[in-house]
Amino acid sequence: TDDRVKPVAYNKELNDLGQVQNETMDKVQGLIHAQQDFVSDVSHELRTPVAIVKGHLELLERWGKDDPEVLEDSIHSSLSEISRMETLVNEMLMLTRAENLTVSSQPEKTEVAPVLERVYHDLQMVHPDFSWTLDNALGAPAEVAVRSDHLEQLLIILIDNALKYSTDRKEIHLALAESGSWVDIGVQDFGQGIAAEDLDRVFDRFYRVDKARVHQTGGNGLGLSIVKKMVAAYGGQVQVESALGSGSVFRLRFPLVKETDNHQKD
Ligand code: ADP
Repeated sequence: TDDRVKPVAYNKELNDLGQVQNETMDKVQGLIHAQQDFVSDVSHELRTPVAIVKGHLELLERWGKDDPEVLEDSIHSSLSEISRMETLVNEMLMLTRAENLTVSSQPEKTEVAPVLERVYHDLQMVHPDFSWTLDNALGAPAEVAVRSDHLEQLLIILIDNALKYSTDRKEIHLALAESGSWVDIGVQDFGQGIAAEDLDRVFDRFYRVDKARVHQTGGNGLGLSIVKKMVAAYGGQVQVESALGSGSVFRLRFPLVKETDNHQKD
């Protein structure tokens, strides 16, 4: 009977091996496609600013440099396109870093409230035309296993968006609370909001709801994809609730580091 069982088992192993190989190939194919998509997205995003700068330089070369007004306008437009490209390159770098982020087994612990307060005060100073509130409902200091500069980066992206997409009602509301084993941070604005059909896609790379307004808001559509990748690397979550015309709330949540986890520090 042994002889009859063996070939079956052997075949099963071979089948399993084949299955594993197929899955690995699928993954590799998936990664190659993702890489190709990224390169094509980036080329697409860079094409417009490059074409604009080139157009201006050609104009200046032909006759524009002799007209002070055209000269000034071309220099101004070119500089602003180059700034956009600079931001784009920096954000792509941030996205790549976020995608490759691996959290160490003994991650840095950060008390959330002081970081949130610092960002709040800094941005409040830069945008005094907004009315700001910070609602800290924590009973006791709460820590999360997230690097403080990363937490700061996440908050800045979300608050920057809240500022950018606010319209008439210039209000930013920040909230910090504990819920079960999570620490929740809410960033709320009362601006243009996001339509239901766009909600799922705002975290996609290069996705912008209003493509025509890119030049006014200066966004590249990378901020929220950076947030999503970074939050995932830390085992956190990011959610959005929004209604067109009445504003949005973005919620970040990270596992609360419990007192009993403190031995990790030593
Ligand atoms: P961007 O650099 O364009 O702001 P993001 O990835 O940060 O890129 O956001 C993607 C898109 O989601 C934005 O272009 C905008 O359409 C929408 N969005 C993000 N945050 C908000 C917000 N607070 N209110 C309304 N729309 C938002």
